Amino acid sequence: MSLTPAPDQKSAGANSPAPRSAADPRPGLSGLAEGVLEAWLAAEGHPAYRVRQIRDAVWRMNAQTADELNTLPVALRSRVGETFRVDTIAADEVTVADRGLTEKTLHLLSDGALIESVLMHYPARGFQSVGRPTHRERHTLCISSQAGCAVGCPFCATGELGFGRDLEAAEILDQVRHAALRLADGGSGRQLTNVVFMGMGEPLLNLDRVLEAVAALADPRRFGLGARHVVVSTSGVVPGIRRLTQLGPQFTLAVSLHAARDPLRDVLVPLNRRWPVAEVVAAARDHARVTGRRVSYEYVMISGVNDTNADADALGVLLRGDLAHVNLIPMNPVAHTPWQASSPDRVATFAARVRRNGVGVTVRANRGQDAGAACGQLAANRAGEPPAGAVAHRREVIIRQSEAALRGARNTEMPADLQEAVADPITGRGATN
Ligand code: SAH
Ligand code: SF4
Repeated sequence: MSLTPAPDQKSAGANSPAPRSAADPRPGLSGLAEGVLEAWLAAEGHPAYRVRQIRDAVWRMNAQTADELNTLPVALRSRVGETFRVDTIAADEVTVADRGLTEKTLHLLSDGALIESVLMHYPARGFQSVGRPTHRERHTLCISSQAGCAVGCPFCATGELGFGRDLEAAEILDQVRHAALRLADGGSGRQLTNVVFMGMGEPLLNLDRVLEAVAALADPRRFGLGARHVVVSTSGVVPGIRRLTQLGPQFTLAVSLHAARDPLRDVLVPLNRRWPVAEVVAAARDHARVTGRRVSYEYVMISGVNDTNADADALGVLLRGDLAHVNLIPMNPVAHTPWQASSPDRVATFAARVRRNGVGVTVRANRGQDAGAACGQLAANRAGEPPAGAVAHRREVIIRQSEAALRGARNTEMPADLQEAVADPITGRGATN
């Protein structure tokens, strides 16, 4: 199947107009807030037990059309279909990589926006003499929270696309339902074990919708996944982290740090120009202290840019004594960056220096590079190659800014799209209530 992006998304970039809401006004069934379906059914004169039948069709059967709500009378099925979208995703295109261990899906939404999710299979390992594995089989889904992203990290394909729009809760959850349906295909009995918000977009800039989605994932009557099996990754939206801390432990928080020093992080994660390293780490530290949950720090390793011994020492000192763990990820060379991944030797040396400070470190493998599995890469490929002049300019700006950063100069200039995105970080600009 071929998915064609909307004209807006085709040219998506920091300065291009992009769709800001789904085209179909009917709310998605999977994202309905508590009580909405109950009230609607009552108003239509139906008994309360229909709620459970609809909920089960959505969450147990992963129904995608009103016809699949087959425990309902036919007339009610069509009323539900007129009022709600049983599925908010119009079409999927799946690409398999890593000899079947990674499946990357490009999802087409009702307004033509394209988003991505990645399903990663981890076979059971570490068999003991009795034949039981020490590590059970896992199936982890990486999902998107926005179409595009305003933060604009220069090594990220989603960042290069620019911001499209916030996703609705149902658009976030339907990525999960689609993966669950594929996994269970053929009666294999396989189930998703982990969901991570590490796909396209900055989840804490669409926090209301992300929290609704997390609540549905945790609810035993809906998806029923334990809080320990959900990870939300942020590039450092400090008011969002503080709001999560007030709410108590809902999931594991991951912070995309990528640099411990402000001048470099200003370039690698432009949101640092608004909320610098010390503020991000202070908020994450409070989060760990209050919730008792360890915070993960993601650190993409870029050769000659953020992988020096000085960077490792700064990172170790910054996190020393914290309830924290560092994941080092060799950069996937995408998004027309002028950079390369650090060598395995450099990553190992870096990890050892961070560990010297008593900070736990894991070196993570990149999954699915042959399927373009750095998030946003499939959508970026579909959007087409930007003009050569734009690519050359992008590289020149990245090199100039990173060279200045390596000399210690701060960059506090906020790009217009990012300025707008952080204007109301608590409710998010796309929030409807
Ligand atoms: N916006 C959020 C969540 C989505 S990005 C955030 O930045 O945390 C999820 C992770 O993928 C981030 O840690 C990000 O830095 C990483 N990532 C993005 N582009 C990458 C690349 N080219 N190579 C390796 N990791 C990348
Ligand atoms: Fe956005 Fe995360 Fe990509 Fe940065 S790494 S541009 S915050 S999606």
